Amino acid sequence: MLTDEYVKRVYAQVEARDPEQPEFLQAVMEVFETIEPVFKDHPEYEKSGVLERLVEPERVIKFRVPWIDDEGHVQVNRGYRIQFNSAIGPYKGGLRFHPTVTESVIKFLGFEQIFKNSLTGLPMGGGKGGSDFDPKGRSDAEVMRFCQSFMTELQRHVGQFTDVPAGDINVGAREVGYMFGQYKRLRNEFAGVLTGKGLEFGGSLARTEATGYGLCYYTQEALRVLRNDSFAGKTVVVSGSGNVAIFAIEKAQELGANVVTCSDSNGYIYDPNGIDLDIVKDIKLEHRGRIKEYADRVASAEYHEGCSEVWTVPCDIALPCATQNEIDEPHAQALVDNGCTVVCEGANMPSTPAAIAVYQNNGVLYGPAKAANAGGVAVSGLEMSQNSYRLSWTFEETDKRLQGIMESIVAESLAAAKQYGHEGDLMMGANIAGFIKVANAMVAEGI
Ligand code: GLU
Repeated sequence: MLTDEYVKRVYAQVEARDPEQPEFLQAVMEVFETIEPVFKDHPEYEKSGVLERLVEPERVIKFRVPWIDDEGHVQVNRGYRIQFNSAIGPYKGGLRFHPTVTESVIKFLGFEQIFKNSLTGLPMGGGKGGSDFDPKGRSDAEVMRFCQSFMTELQRHVGQFTDVPAGDINVGAREVGYMFGQYKRLRNEFAGVLTGKGLEFGGSLARTEATGYGLCYYTQEALRVLRNDSFAGKTVVVSGSGNVAIFAIEKAQELGANVVTCSDSNGYIYDPNGIDLDIVKDIKLEHRGRIKEYADRVASAEYHEGCSEVWTVPCDIALPCATQNEIDEPHAQALVDNGCTVVCEGANMPSTPAAIAVYQNNGVLYGPAKAANAGGVAVSGLEMSQNSYRLSWTFEETDKRLQGIMESIVAESLAAAKQYGHEGDLMMGANIAGFIKVANAMVAEGI
């Protein structure tokens, strides 16, 4: 429920303008509800139209991506790049290739990215892109041709000082490599135009691990500060089995947790002995297979059809690492009823507003995505720094910086929450801290 007149008025404008964009409206509402207290101290934000400007992307690019499949047929997908906000740096954010990609999904992701990037403390604006292309079942040659066609158009809109894309769902080192190659071919320029690159051509050590590791550093720090507790001895439920989930499981295990689940879009694995990560990596990273195979290879594991039932598994800590709105109200209630007291988000917006209300009403330590999963883009920012310096840091150096960034996100969020009378509220704190920096820059840079 919005109460501030200015915030209410701008939300009504967004709703009237984009009624068909439910994910975007959801992301805007979540931010607006939590930043209301800021406007009393900052009349200049309304005077400068900060909110009206913030909710409208600086640029929406929508394009045709034609490519030829292995049978020689022409396929056409739709590509997007949304350059949302450049107040504090070049647009920065991933590319998602998934059949669920729409303008609304890319807009919600781009909007979240503005605040997430601001929280990292690095000079990065917010952007996001992708396509409704489904790489499932496609050959390597088809993926390459798709990526090349995608970059043939995208190259005219991006650049190391303009907009620096990276990966997201279904876009990893392979896809980034193909897109980087095409950019270089067309522009005759070897530049850090993408992050998540291979180590041989400007990638950063620890970028692959960054989102999952960062999620655990964030959770560990929040547990330490708010509860004088840690991962040690905790039962952890993880959803997903992509890049974020795999490295969240790895770090949680290293910190002494027993991680008992992982999932894909078909179902989930429950292994009370703890997930054997080498097997998950073999299935997912080596063979791009289905998680069901895990149960064929590990005697202690059960496979259950239906990925959303993973939230009925009893745990102390839940780390959703699959996709948006994967936890709704009944799932959140099931988590709480079965003893879960910590939810930190590796995916973007994995909890519905009703699920967040369940966390809040039950004293769950809730780490929102834009803070908890900022480690990925943070190391992307560090990759940009290394590219500018023309050097590369060691794994240890980069990982140490990542850990420092995640710890300061917790500290800054808690400081902002306290300043505005909501001590201990990591969601409110993250939104306020992320917003103020961008808003101040927007005021300073004029209209
Ligand atoms: N897709 C990731 C995210 O949601 C990473 C973006 C990046 O590295 O630019 O933050």
